[in-house]
Amino acid sequence: MSKVLIPRSLEQLWQLQAENKDNAVFAGGTDLLVKIRAGKPAPKALICLDRLDELKTITELPYEIALGAAVTPAQVLASPLIKNHFPVLNEALRHLGSPHIRNMGSLGGNIMTASPAGDSLPPLYVLQAAVELQSAAGTRKLQLKDFIRGPGQTQILQGEILSRIIIPKEPVFSHHFFEKVGLRQALAIAVVSLAALYNLDSKQTVSAIRLAWGSLGPTVVVQPEVEQFLLGKPLTTTRLTAAADLLKQRIEPISDIRAGADYRRRVAGNLLKRLNPNER
Ligand SMILES: Cc1cc2nc3c(=O)[nH]c(=O)nc-3n(C[C@H](O)[C@H](O)[C@H](O)COP(=O)(O)OP(=O)(O)OC[C@H]3O[C@@H](n4cnc5c(N)ncnc54)[C@H](O)[C@@H]3O)c2cc1C
Repeated sequence: MSKVLIPRSLEQLWQLQAENKDNAVFAGGTDLLVKIRAGKPAPKALICLDRLDELKTITELPYEIALGAAVTPAQVLASPLIKNHFPVLNEALRHLGSPHIRNMGSLGGNIMTASPAGDSLPPLYVLQAAVELQSAAGTRKLQLKDFIRGPGQTQILQGEILSRIIIPKEPVFSHHFFEKVGLRQALAIAVVSLAALYNLDSKQTVSAIRLAWGSLGPTVVVQPEVEQFLLGKPLTTTRLTAAADLLKQRIEPISDIRAGADYRRRVAGNLLKRLNPNER
């Protein structure tokens, strides 16, 4: 059985990591402890990040907002800063698990799990979030899209933790959209999700757009070609239907116990059509 260690400062964390080579960090444990219970080999030491104040704050910087990695989804949802600047993230976290999971889990844990169905990932991709990685040796910063390499795989190095998620405040988008389709209304893992940021001018023409689908590929799926197709044109049902057809030709969805590739392809297109408020 693993021993659980609870550092109260980053200095103490680095020391505990050095003294316990076979270790894993965790925040809420809603992914890691579930996997260990299901048979994943447990390390000798489990180091809890939940009492590190540095990782528990949401801070407004001049050009960015920084979220500590151990911030819970419930904490993000309660933050007026996030609600005002990044409604797309707010909307996605409203649908993550249950109230219990949203109080226990963490944003950093959701990123580190790097699940194709991780609810925070599509919004963080369209917001062009960066991750800050910290170790006893120093700090480095990477774009989230470069940090996640595949299901359960990231660029984190031995001895590093994910310390902060940093989201630029600019550019501002007038429309934030997130929708997730699951197998049931509540406590559902995404079968497909879509996060979108876009601006419309007075003629309803798309002047900027970013799209990211979750649960469609091994990691978040982006389609610059579909974005280009919508750019500079009115966001009509006809245009969105044509964009959905283009998307369906371009993607190679995953198949798993929740859904097959064909169903996912159809849902991914249908979610795109819902960018038109008349289709909701
Ligand atoms: C019943 C249930 C329902 C769920 N529903 C959803 C859902 O709808 N959507 C969804 O996206 N997820 C869901 N999850 C998965 C999980 O709750 C989330 O991914 C959650 O955000 C994980 O956060 P955590 O702090 O509990 O992660 P932990 O279990 O603490 O950690 C997960 C992984 O990340 C690593 N880690 C954690 N924090 C750090 C850090 N700061 N630096 C480096 N490594 C770190 C750990 O070593 C571990 O490998 C569900 C889980 C359960 C049990």
